Amino acid sequence: MKSIWNRVLKIDLSRGAFEVEKLPDDIYEKFLGGAGLAAYYLWRECPAGTTAFSPENRLVLAAGPMQGIKQTGASKWSAAAISPSINMNADSAATASFGIEMKHAGWDAIVISGRAPQPVSLAVDNDRVEFHDAKHLWGKNAYAAEDGLKEGLQDDYSCLTIGKAGESLIRFANIQTGKKSFLGRCGLGAVMGSKRLKGIAIRGSKQISLYDSAEVDRLNREINRRLYLLDAEKPELLRASVAGTARATERFAPQGNLPIKNFQLGTFPEGVEAFRTANYVRELNAKPWPCKYCVIRCHNRCEIKEGPYAYKGKGPEYESLAMMGHNTLITDIRAVAYAGELADEYGMDTISIGSAIAWAMESFDRGVIDRSDTYGLDLAWGNAEAMVEMVRKIGERTEGLAYLLGEGVKTASETIGRGSEAWAMQMKGQEIAAHNFRAQYVSALNYCTGVASGPSHERANTQHLWVNKLRMPEWGVELDEVGNDERWSWEKAAIRHAKVHDYSNVINSACHCKFMEYNGYTMTDLLATINACTGLGWSHEDLRRCGERITNLQKLLNIRYGWKKEDDFRYPKRFLEPVEDGPAAGKAPLGLDEAILDYYRERGWGEDGIPTLEKLRELDLTAT
Ligand code: SF4
Repeated sequence: MKSIWNRVLKIDLSRGAFEVEKLPDDIYEKFLGGAGLAAYYLWRECPAGTTAFSPENRLVLAAGPMQGIKQTGASKWSAAAISPSINMNADSAATASFGIEMKHAGWDAIVISGRAPQPVSLAVDNDRVEFHDAKHLWGKNAYAAEDGLKEGLQDDYSCLTIGKAGESLIRFANIQTGKKSFLGRCGLGAVMGSKRLKGIAIRGSKQISLYDSAEVDRLNREINRRLYLLDAEKPELLRASVAGTARATERFAPQGNLPIKNFQLGTFPEGVEAFRTANYVRELNAKPWPCKYCVIRCHNRCEIKEGPYAYKGKGPEYESLAMMGHNTLITDIRAVAYAGELADEYGMDTISIGSAIAWAMESFDRGVIDRSDTYGLDLAWGNAEAMVEMVRKIGERTEGLAYLLGEGVKTASETIGRGSEAWAMQMKGQEIAAHNFRAQYVSALNYCTGVASGPSHERANTQHLWVNKLRMPEWGVELDEVGNDERWSWEKAAIRHAKVHDYSNVINSACHCKFMEYNGYTMTDLLATINACTGLGWSHEDLRRCGERITNLQKLLNIRYGWKKEDDFRYPKRFLEPVEDGPAAGKAPLGLDEAILDYYRERGWGEDGIPTLEKLRELDLTAT
């Protein structure tokens, strides 16, 4: 197989040593790379009983067969570990250029185990691997740590780092890379912190051998040009390069897809107005800041020049705006952008922190907590100053409520009690994302049955059949086949969700940016590129089978780390409560329990939600 190195860098932080593992082709043929390869390593090296913060946990950083080619979206890479929020396997993905450098350095993956006696960082320059003392970086925020890591190194290194949140084991601590992209969900930053690894700098100069480099070049040119032109046809304010995913707030409002007031309301006109694309660009001075080779260019750099929220850096994406803005009823876009940047610097996931603060605001509103709990802050809905201050206090692990929130809303609500569990919008220990289950019922199904990252909006982004008109005609999800009203139907939910989940796993394992799929990139583009890179000669059936195999392996990992069927059914009570206003008024995913069971059947799993032996044999997983 081409476009892989068959080489994995194994780092043992306890011993301060590394070794090279040669991995045979058949592992890649089964799991491709990225998320699939990471799941394979967890399966092989993390037995039952391994916990998130134990030295035996593996943090796996993995590229795929697409890294190293100059195709739009090919800057993605994946990571996985046992997560401290869901206490099961979880993966997450980021962009920037770390994955590309890892590939150019000659590594398909880096598998990190152990715990360093003192804070360390790694510098990887092709085959040269160095362990550096990082005591001087410990205690620094994630961006300052990246600057520190680069001191004495040349500019061409790509870095990833954790902030103070990862060091202090906040359950939703993230890992940042390039000051612009994040392994955001499930607390992988805390896993890194538990290993006392502050950061990694990497660069490489090797060129991977491709199966058909002329065809790869042709595909790159054709795809890059087509996607660029498709984007250029759009009215200015709808182009991804203008405000990135943040422009989705405007589009999702008429669909009822926004999370509003901790998922209690169906409309928030002031918020929709405040976060409009035109306001975003004006108030935040947004300019494109693309990942390497990207023609869609959704990431942007912002600058607020003056006032209490002055900063220059990453512009907030959709999930950050929605969870820290609409979900808290805050309309000050500068405050939300600044709070997001603050969270990024501490190294905290903005989805989880938005949910945690919304939970605290609702608890405050209902009298479950008061100013004696909130450090004197008026944690009323819409109070931007209080929200910003709470982000700071959570990041600092301030004793009391802020510390508790850093443990996640599940633990916070169970500790404080008094009925507050009812408005903790989490499943399995992770806060749910910014897609409203009343706008399309399949979002609820997705949150309940996700196997790659708990209740993730990303690991199976089935909501995009409606919210972004994602289509997969190659796998039978035709252009005209998905009716708008089917948002509120379970009829084809199981099969569609299974297909999108498997497709997501293929994308995260080939390592490609999902935003391409909403901008004209097709499954056929992905398959043709994988084949031209690797020589696998796959059909669409093979692609599906690979995705399904990875989904099932992730499910087996869930089971190994303690998943029980009832976990899928322990969703927030609010899931079944309709809102009174807005486009999804009166809608709620009633029948969710039966839909989960339907999904198990569609998957070929037993009524207990466990893959059958027959299914595992069919997917060639029994010998793994
Ligand atoms: S679409 Fe956005 S996240 Fe994806 S590669 Fe381009 S700039 Fe990066």
